[in-house]
Amino acid sequence: MEAFFVDLGEKAFRTSQVLKWIHQQGVYDFDAMTNLSKALRHRLKEIAEIRTPEVILEQSSEDGTRKWLLRLDSGNCVETVFIPEANRGTLCVSSQVGCALDCAFCSTAQQGFNRNLTTAEIISQVLVATRTLRGDLDKDRVITNVVLMGMGEPLLNFNNVVRALQLMQDDFAYGLSKRRITLSTAGVVPALDRLRDVSDVSLAVSLHAPYDELRNELVPLNRKYPIDELLAACRRYISGQSHRAITFEYVLLAGVNDSAQHARDLASLLKGLPAKVNLIPFNPFPGTRFKRSDDLVINAFRDILMSRGLTTITRRTRGDDIDAACGQLAGKVMDRTKRQLRGAGQAEFAGP
Ligand code: SAH
Repeated sequence: MEAFFVDLGEKAFRTSQVLKWIHQQGVYDFDAMTNLSKALRHRLKEIAEIRTPEVILEQSSEDGTRKWLLRLDSGNCVETVFIPEANRGTLCVSSQVGCALDCAFCSTAQQGFNRNLTTAEIISQVLVATRTLRGDLDKDRVITNVVLMGMGEPLLNFNNVVRALQLMQDDFAYGLSKRRITLSTAGVVPALDRLRDVSDVSLAVSLHAPYDELRNELVPLNRKYPIDELLAACRRYISGQSHRAITFEYVLLAGVNDSAQHARDLASLLKGLPAKVNLIPFNPFPGTRFKRSDDLVINAFRDILMSRGLTTITRRTRGDDIDAACGQLAGKVMDRTKRQLRGAGQAEFAGP
């Protein structure tokens, strides 16, 4: 944007002014940007536009969770979810249309993959949600945290995601601290190392299994980047940063990865790492062969981890009445992977 203004013969600081109008004031009309000269406003109207994806569906859950379906182009939509809690409001943002990773238990995977979101499409989700919520809740700062845990694998859309993270942290845009932004990844090891060089946001890693044999089935990316390489990359990510832990996400699938032995193996695997565990009760979706573990099993699993010194939190299921819970985001994807065809030739996972 600075280059854009300099090209127009303007000072680079116009960028911060316009960023503030857009992201902090929610103003899309150049005429209303009163600290710009009349001539510049006029010029901007000729050559530029401020446009966000169209909201085609907005749903509210009984628990206050909100979900937006945003149309990006003729065939593709993504979903964004807002999760209000007592002391914070978390926005869950998508990074790709669909997902190429094909995790066995995720409904986004079933949609296939179409394309990466642009930086504008990623940050627009924060903008659209901020504008709507501000109007509805009459509060200035409604979104206190952002998690890249929506549709897609953020580290496979590296450059656009990093630029969007920068805007989330920028004082002229959203000014969120690194602790309030979490990127969740299935474990793209080389990209994790690159991320460490350019960003300092908090990291969540979708682990889901304590050993490779099982993780290969649940998260096929593991065949490329097995657990020991992934954990080594995690150690590199936090090395040199004090007091920081990595969150390991673990979806509990009944009879698949939820036994006491799995819990003990998980605890040994994470031993010595500054780690927190986030247990996610499985959220079902049509056509899935997995089942959610019983609450008793979930609690027992948690207790084993805790007794071995791991901070463990069971993620509360939010917004499942509007299909807004983890792994339920589907949007609308013009699949280019022909996954249905590929799937037909693949061996079924010997799960439930
Ligand atoms: N691709 C990234 C970002 C998605 S984050 C990643 O894999 O981390 C979404 C989180 O929800 C991930 O931990 C994912 O494994 C988990 N998830 C996917 N499907 C789920 C389901 N059906 N129930 C519960 N959690 C699920």
